[in-house]
Amino acid sequence: MKWQDDIQYLKGVGPKKAALLAKLGIQTMFDLLTWYPRGYEDQSALTPIASLHAGETATVSGSIMNLTEKQGRSRKMSILTALVGDGTGFLQIIWFNQKYLKQQLKIGCRLFVTGKATYAYGGQGQLAMSNLSSFQILQDGEAPEEALGIQPIYSATEKLNQKFFRKLMHTLLENPPEWQEVLPESVRTEYALMDRRQAFGAIHFPKDFEELQAARRRLAFDELYLIQCGLLLIKKQGRESRRGIRHLSDSRLTREVMDSLPFRLTGDQAKCLCAVKSDMEKTVPMRRLVQGDVGSGKTVIAMLALVKTVENGWQGALMAPTEILAAQHYESFRKQLAPFGIRVGFLSGRLTKKKRQELYDAMEAQELDIVIGTHALIQEGVHFAKLGLVVTDEQHRFGIAQRAELEKKSSRLPDVLVMTATPIPRTMTLTIYGDLDVSLIRELPPGRQPVRTFVRRPERRPLIYDFVHKEIEAGRQAYVICPLIEMNEELPIPSAEEVYEELRHGIFRDMRCGLVHGRMKAAEKEQVMQDFYENRVQLLVSTTVIEVGVNVPNASIMVVEHAERFGLAQLHQLRGRIGRGSYRSYCVLVSESKSQTAKERLQIMESTADGFQLAEEDLKLRGPGQFFGSMQHGLPDLKIADVLHDMDILLDARRAAMQTMERREDMRFVRPILSMQYGEHFKQIRDV
Ligand code: ADP
Ligand code: MG
Repeated sequence: MKWQDDIQYLKGVGPKKAALLAKLGIQTMFDLLTWYPRGYEDQSALTPIASLHAGETATVSGSIMNLTEKQGRSRKMSILTALVGDGTGFLQIIWFNQKYLKQQLKIGCRLFVTGKATYAYGGQGQLAMSNLSSFQILQDGEAPEEALGIQPIYSATEKLNQKFFRKLMHTLLENPPEWQEVLPESVRTEYALMDRRQAFGAIHFPKDFEELQAARRRLAFDELYLIQCGLLLIKKQGRESRRGIRHLSDSRLTREVMDSLPFRLTGDQAKCLCAVKSDMEKTVPMRRLVQGDVGSGKTVIAMLALVKTVENGWQGALMAPTEILAAQHYESFRKQLAPFGIRVGFLSGRLTKKKRQELYDAMEAQELDIVIGTHALIQEGVHFAKLGLVVTDEQHRFGIAQRAELEKKSSRLPDVLVMTATPIPRTMTLTIYGDLDVSLIRELPPGRQPVRTFVRRPERRPLIYDFVHKEIEAGRQAYVICPLIEMNEELPIPSAEEVYEELRHGIFRDMRCGLVHGRMKAAEKEQVMQDFYENRVQLLVSTTVIEVGVNVPNASIMVVEHAERFGLAQLHQLRGRIGRGSYRSYCVLVSESKSQTAKERLQIMESTADGFQLAEEDLKLRGPGQFFGSMQHGLPDLKIADVLHDMDILLDARRAAMQTMERREDMRFVRPILSMQYGEHFKQIRDV
């Protein structure tokens, strides 16, 4: 048996169960092994019934004193109740719809149960447990097999319950395929890590919490270490590559374009541009990430870098995440660059076949210097005569895999610059974007006024919209953001369509209103955006489609309906659409949510404009989940490590991975493991 073998060959599984397991994503022995518990329950201490409190989760053992079976109100439901006593008190144990248990439960039997105690229905203060997380029926004199231990709790389903998983895990751990070490000896000793086999045993069935802790550390370390090795290998490979393009240091054109800007670069922008230029002037291909909060002015960095490549006789590509954004960039680039004879093209998704072919031909004949578009830009069939620089706006949709695609395209590797507004803590940046060099823009352009943010209850809507009306009268424009597109009977909240109808026939009937959402045709959507851009639409009702990048400096007010339905980072992105000009800007978050956490969450928006802080708060509140993989597209999801709470493990793992890069025999050890575990994620690593 091997770790890669199909799970159906494990004793106790078979094709039927295998199909159910596959639905959870468990296909191999290794998948099962790494189906880590989502929690544990401590059964190492029995609680006397007399000292049990309502709301407490505990393990209790006692004898069945009485048994009753009732029919629920809905007839179909059967309710089985056992009264259990342990000499200190009595407790009701209740099972719903588990008739089959009746055969097994007998008065006098001993029960061993873990669950949460609640007050029994009509029981005058007596306690009950339903929803048991585990129970065992013990025959005379039998000791509970699970007793006195910490038990794993798995993400289970109706058909695959806890008991099934626990048993299966025991089977696997007792008869495992051959264990394989994933860490070089030197790393294991230096970081004092638990043995890997022992760690897997302990993560599922820990002796105590101390052992569990050590096991988690080891397994999280393994995971983070291998991913770090992958990222660092990609980086190292890039460093050693001489296939890059060596741009010359600046001369006339770049400087002239810079001088033609209506503003001077901020200190951070200048620093960032300097790093970009110096990367471009090396033969090692540039792989740089520019991270800067919304509105920090990343676009101009991209523009100047693109001009530099053009000046050196190369072509540049700018990829935007949406068609709307690409169109906007195209407009502003053309205006800015045409006077210098730089030819800018727009590869719109809406071009006719003929027009598109013309554009392709122009790119291939180098009749265009800079081409702007969405992902379509680097797809199959698109050829640049001399591609010198690729810039992508909003990194999270352009990850490792896409960069790998690029590398295949030509013998000379274009420089790559990625820009993201997703604020994540610095240490995390280093790790998640471990294959990139990072520049940070923290400073906002001068004259920006922070957006004033208010959380308001829906009763205040008339007042809020009155205020919006006044702002529009004064010449400004406004956004109204709604979480849903159209009416949904299950959710009692107004949709974008409804709000739009309400506003344009109501208080804003004398103004030009527009609606934009993700389900509209691309052409319609762009038309509305263009109208808003050119102030033909004054009030724009929208879903989150406007979240990224849209730049309308005259828009100074935003109302977010049902703000509690958005994440903080998302609200921050939305809010970043206003406060882009010199006008005083306002963001009103309308929410009727009564929950305390929802309120607190929104209040954070009132108190800070720092995207990094908001992102951290958001992570804490929502948990990291699949954060890692979604952050940098193409990274594997983490199964056990947690980038937020395991920061110290992460830093250790990164240090260890860096040491590994320096040691030949360690590298030789790690590469095959990397290809086995994460091969498909790190395809572009040669020999992996
Ligand atoms: P983002 O980083 O969110 O992509 P943009 O590049 O769209 O931000 O810039 C936001 C706005 O700030 C634009 O209108 C841009 O012209 C302006 N801007 C950029 N840099 C400066 C600067 N140094 N001084 C003044 N305004 C600037
Ligand atoms: Mg931008």
